[in-house]
Formats: sequence, C-alpha cells, structure tokens
Amino acid sequence: MPIAAIQDILDGKYAGKPVSVRGWIYRKRESKKTIFLVVRDASGIIQCTVKTDNPSWTQAEKITIESSVMITGTVKQDKRASGGYEITVEKLSIIGLAETFPITQDKSEEFLRDVRHLWLRSRRMSLIMRVRSEVLRFTHEFFRKEGFIEVSPPMFISSACEGGSTLFGLKYFGKDLYLTQSAQLYLEALIYSLEKVYCVAPSFRAEKSRTIRHLTEYWHIEPEWAFADMDDLMRVEEDLLSYICQKTAEDCKREIESLGADISKLKVVNTPFPRITYTEAIEKLTAKGFKIKWGEDFGYDDEKALAEEFGKPFFVYAYPRQIKAFYCKTHRDNPDLVMSTDMLVPRIGEISTGGAREDDKEELLRRIRELDLREEDYKWYIDLRRYGTVPHVGFGLGLERLLTWMLDLENIIDAIPFPRTTRRFYP
Ligand code: ATP
Ligand code: MG
Repeated sequence: MPIAAIQDILDGKYAGKPVSVRGWIYRKRESKKTIFLVVRDASGIIQCTVKTDNPSWTQAEKITIESSVMITGTVKQDKRASGGYEITVEKLSIIGLAETFPITQDKSEEFLRDVRHLWLRSRRMSLIMRVRSEVLRFTHEFFRKEGFIEVSPPMFISSACEGGSTLFGLKYFGKDLYLTQSAQLYLEALIYSLEKVYCVAPSFRAEKSRTIRHLTEYWHIEPEWAFADMDDLMRVEEDLLSYICQKTAEDCKREIESLGADISKLKVVNTPFPRITYTEAIEKLTAKGFKIKWGEDFGYDDEKALAEEFGKPFFVYAYPRQIKAFYCKTHRDNPDLVMSTDMLVPRIGEISTGGAREDDKEELLRRIRELDLREEDYKWYIDLRRYGTVPHVGFGLGLERLLTWMLDLENIIDAIPFPRTTRRFYP
C-alpha cells in the first residue's frame, strides 16, 4: 500500500480508503476501549484510533510519545476529529520505541534551547523551517528571473569587509585568517565576467551584544551587479522584497496562519517603497524628541521609531560618509554623503544595507587611507578599479532578520534551526 502524506488525508484525498502513514507519536490518550494516537509526519497530524479487539492493542499500549511508527488502517471522515478525518488502525508497527521524551508542556525557553535538536520537532519550529525554505526558493526564483547568476564565495578570508570589531579570527596553518562577514568584495570581482551575480551564504559576526536581531552566524542574501546606480539598486531590492512577501502570503498561507503571524502585513508590501534621506530621518527623529545628531549612526530605538511611522518596509539613503564602510561611493556633488541605503521594517529596524561601490581607484585609495586601513590588504580589490572599472551596486539582506519580521518572531534565534549567539553554540 502506498504511504500517504497526512496532509493529503486531511485534504480529503483518501476518504473511506485504506492507507498507510509513517511518522511519530505526537499525543496519546487512553480510554477503556480505545487508544487515541495522534501521529505526525512532515506534512501534518492526524488522530488514529486503536480498539481493544485489535491485535495491535498491546503495541499501542506500550507506545510512547515520539516513538516512530508505521500505521495501516482506513480513513474515516469524522467531524469531531480535528482536521475532519481520522484513521481506524488495522496494524501498528513500532519502528523505534522512544525513551521518555524530555519536552513536556511548561518547559522554559532556556530548556527548549538546550534541547533544540529535539525542539525542532515541534509544530511551531517545523512551520518556521518550511517558510524559511520557501523564502529561499522565492529568493532564488527572483534572481534567476532577473538574470542573476548564483555564485559561491569563500568563507575563509584574509581581510575585513565590515570592520574589525565583529571579525572572528582563526588560525589557518599558523596564519591569521577570519571568517567572512559578507561576500560583497568577492561578488564585486565576479561582476566583471558575469555582470549580475548573487549568493546566499553564511556570514559571521562576533556581535557582543545580546539583542533580538543578532546572530553570530546568519545567512546573507547578497546580489551585486554592474552598470547600475542607486535607483536600479532600490528598484531591484523593493522588487525582491515584494516578490518574496507576495509569494509567501500566497503559498504559505496555512503556515503563516498556524503560526499566528499577520499575513495582511505581507500582502501590502507593494512597490514603490517609501524613501527618505538620512537627513530627513534625522529631522523626523529630532521632531520626536530623540537626541541623535547629524553624523551619528542610528541605534535600534531610532530605527524602530522611524519604522513605526511607515508601518511597512522603506528605504533610508544618502548617509554621512563617516558612518559607512570604505567601499561606499561618495556623492560627487557632496563628498560628505555616500550612496548607501538601508531598508528598515517595523519592530526589527534594519534588514538590509546596500549601495553604490566606489568605482574610482583614486577615490577608493583615499577612503582606505582615510580610514587607516592597510592598502596591501585590499590589493586585489583595488585591482578591480584598475582594469575596466564600472559603476556597480549591491546589497546584503539578512535572511533571518527578514523572517523575524515576516513571521512576527519574538527573537531571531527561531528563524534558524541551530542558532549561534554569544552564549549559544550547542547543540
Ligand atoms: P546592525 O547594525 O543591525 O548590526 P549591520 O549594519 O552591521 O547590522 P550589515 O553589515 O549592513 O549589518 O549587514 C547586512 C545585513 O545583514 C543587515 O542589514 C542584516 O539584515 C544582516 N545582519 C547583519 N548582522 C547580522 C547579525 N549579527 N545577525 C543577523 N543578521 C545580521
Ligand atoms: Mg547595515
């Protein structure tokens, strides 16, 4: 007999028919004459009933929560059953009998993090992981559709991209290397042959602060492309975001509703996104009584306050040169500003940073010296401006930050199966 996916049974495809299902025991309840087993597989959960006169009764009595099983029976439509269907069991085979499962209701968040390898079986975590997978699919679909070529950047690097304070160092055959913070510089090298490239890869940040939006290892969606300016950049970025949000609202409706997240928030993500300059953002904050001065970087509270006003994703652009990285292109008519833009969303603040990259060799060298960086560390990167330089742009979007916003997660750690933070690297 073919193995049925539980969701297909709940969708009515097997009403009145014999089926086999495979999965794990999710709940168990006994009465004198019947044992009720709720079985879960990757697609859903269904109640299975075993009667006293069934030869599988002793197996059913013995079975424990999280044991793996194979069940054969008949699908019965039953209005009282959650999901509308249940299985009358004919044969129950235990594949792996579980020891007493350590996760019960009323366990603390901290405990659930310690047993993350088991907590991943929860309905909540599996719903999030499904949406994560879909968001990745939409990301790849979008970039392919736009003619971007997927590339694979290195994880071991020899010089910083985003600045020294969050670099993880490591010994590499006696030499000092680092874990990558961003693929950007490598993507820039690749545009000279492929023009439009992107990657989805891990980035590592030695973030010392504990926040709801920082991991030490996260997945970074990074495109980079040639012959493009700031308008092109913001257009692609808002198109990507609205594509992901619209497709997720359509294809992951069930997951989003089961997670209790607000689907309407995704449906209203349409282009064009609002855009304000950094200077306008400072004026807004000052008007709200914030102490921030022109030239300072936004803190989390500033970003949240700005985002509250828009209630949806928006761009802040044209930042002061002193708070942005060496590779940002300066505005030719105002060298105090760089062509950099952040995308902000409510509650989370920044979810991406992008911009035009300095494409003039002399300007780039000036910035490297201004920031006291070592020119020899960036020799190959400077070469890119030596041989056929072109105006180009790119951005980096944090997958987990995006999911935290999309799914109304309280903390970014639930957006990734095995989160790494300052204090958490087990399991
Ligand atoms: P923040 O100031 O919020 O720490 P950042 O400006 O240092 O972020 P960028 O270097 O701009 O981060 O990285 C691009 C994107 O990568 C960010 O907009 C964010 O979505 C994501 N990101 C950066 N750091 C982290 C982190 N520690 N954990 C998860 N996502 C991150
Ligand atoms: Mg940033």
